[in-house]
Amino acid sequence: MTKRKDWKEYFMEITELVASRSTCDRAFVGCLLVNDDNRIVSSGYNGSVSGNPHCDDIGHTMRDGHCIATIHAEMNALLYCAKEGISVKGCTAYITHFPCLNCTKALIQAGIKQIYYKYDYRIDEYAILLLNRNHIGFEKLEID
Ligand SMILES: [Zn+2]
Ligand SMILES: [Zn+2]
Repeated sequence: MTKRKDWKEYFMEITELVASRSTCDRAFVGCLLVNDDNRIVSSGYNGSVSGNPHCDDIGHTMRDGHCIATIHAEMNALLYCAKEGISVKGCTAYITHFPCLNCTKALIQAGIKQIYYKYDYRIDEYAILLLNRNHIGFEKLEID
């Protein structure tokens, strides 16, 4: 009998599946928001504003070395909840990559209480400071 996956492995695998839908190939990032009952509340990946052309069709829209067409996975996951009126207070975020500063601020402000991520990616010191100051747990998952 194979070992049953624990919740962290299970949700991170789903997060990576979500990331594979990214349409901006500068970064394949996925985010899953999970509540205390281990239910998925929302998901998001890096992509364009809904209904707009995707980078993998028309190329990136670059400014100052960044693709400005893309909404980050974390923001996509949060904004779906804003649109549909779903609370994410107290939820856990599973993210393939450590969040950027803006997404970190948004996750904290939305009430996310814990972050699990798999890949270190341009970790911003101020993001770490904010997470610590606001008592948001963050942990790198060492799983394949
Ligand atoms: Zn792009
Ligand atoms: Zn971000």
